[in-house]
Amino acid sequence: MNERDSERMAALLEGMGYIPSEPDDEADVVLINTCSVRAKPEHKVYSELGRYKEIKRRKKDMVLVVAGCVAQQEGTELLRHVPHLDIVLGTRSIYRLPELVAGVIKNGERACAVDMDASAQPNLFGAERSRPRSPTAFVVAMIGCSNWCAYCVVPRLRGPAISRPPEEILDEVRDLTGRGVREVTLLGQNVNIYGNDLRQAGLDFPRLLKMVSEVDGIERVRFVTSHPREFSNRLIEEMATNRKVCEYLHLPAQAGSDKTLQLMNRGYTRDQYLNLVRRIRDAIPHIALTADFIVGFPGESEEDFRQTLDLVREARYHNIYSFRYSVRHGTAAEQMKPDVPIEKRAERLSMLQNLQDEITERIMKSYEGTLREVLLEGPSKTDPGRTTGRTRCNMPAHVPGVLSPGKVVTVRVTRALRHSLEGEVVS
Ligand code: SAH
Ligand code: SF4
Repeated sequence: MNERDSERMAALLEGMGYIPSEPDDEADVVLINTCSVRAKPEHKVYSELGRYKEIKRRKKDMVLVVAGCVAQQEGTELLRHVPHLDIVLGTRSIYRLPELVAGVIKNGERACAVDMDASAQPNLFGAERSRPRSPTAFVVAMIGCSNWCAYCVVPRLRGPAISRPPEEILDEVRDLTGRGVREVTLLGQNVNIYGNDLRQAGLDFPRLLKMVSEVDGIERVRFVTSHPREFSNRLIEEMATNRKVCEYLHLPAQAGSDKTLQLMNRGYTRDQYLNLVRRIRDAIPHIALTADFIVGFPGESEEDFRQTLDLVREARYHNIYSFRYSVRHGTAAEQMKPDVPIEKRAERLSMLQNLQDEITERIMKSYEGTLREVLLEGPSKTDPGRTTGRTRCNMPAHVPGVLSPGKVVTVRVTRALRHSLEGEVVS
């Protein structure tokens, strides 16, 4: 979601005549898009801002903007604490960027835009983007989140969940295919509840997937994120029967013990989660699953953590994104006790990651010698003599030669690396 927001803000600045610049100390506008889902990325923002104090002393007319969740969270406080900062741009105020930048340039007006009231916002979802450089694109399906998981700042900083009208989504997808895009990833914090707030007969997420996949020129559709709680049989069926929907699913579990899941307010039990995984695997045998996990949530005992390890073994994920619990201001978990000591959190994180590394390695090895459908995306970043794409399972794949992006080819996998595949095009 942040990446898409960044693209959108870059496009708004391009619309004002700016062009992307390196090095940044000569830029006329510097925009830092921020994340505060955990403490670490949030701290980075302050060190980054510190760096610009000196730079702005040399380049006085530089406009410095902080956008995203840290901006939303800190609001005018951020302007007060950082005198060389010009604009604080909240998560639902992106559309105001051009007007605010112009205000700084014309009148030296510093500004803070953190209004969350959706009814007052003319362009919540924003289709602005520069010319796509890749045949794949992110498309916003929903903004905000109303789940209130106990550890999470997203509902507070991105506001309640709102579905984007389907016509707007389809218009954007059509525009993208006209510009060479072949694969779209629909974005939302929990896409499973898509459409509930729009109250259009028959409109739900499976229906949206179908409509998007029927746009001329679209070869593949993906989505992130779906919540294990509202995962419907209709969605499983659409994924299993619609050729354009890739066999890839990010299904965050967060923890493996019922006690922790309940404290986290996730709304499912371990058994319900594993049953869902079984139903999905039965319907879509070659699906690649990934998930997010938090270790060291308040009160997590050795036994609770063991259940997380067990669940990871049983679910057989292709990969996981795992994080040490990080207490966030204004969340329900902020008051929860007892804390798991920091060293324990680190120890559990590395145990979990070691386990997943073994599972990932075994799965990757099993790809060797098989044929995979790959959508070519462009020259490899490390070796421009090769072309990189992704399999339907969302695995990066490298093939020799400079081939046209946007083509779907069949690749024989010759070597599996840790997180990518090498192969040769067979057709
Ligand atoms: N809507 C998505 C997640 C968005 S946040 C979902 O529900 O899956 C991305 C991930 O950050 C979460 O899945 C969670 O694993 C992690 N995360 C969120 N808050 C956290 C916190 N306070 N401490 C550690 N990890 C956290
Ligand atoms: Fe945060 Fe939970 Fe919403 Fe994901 S579903 S954004 S973890 S509150």
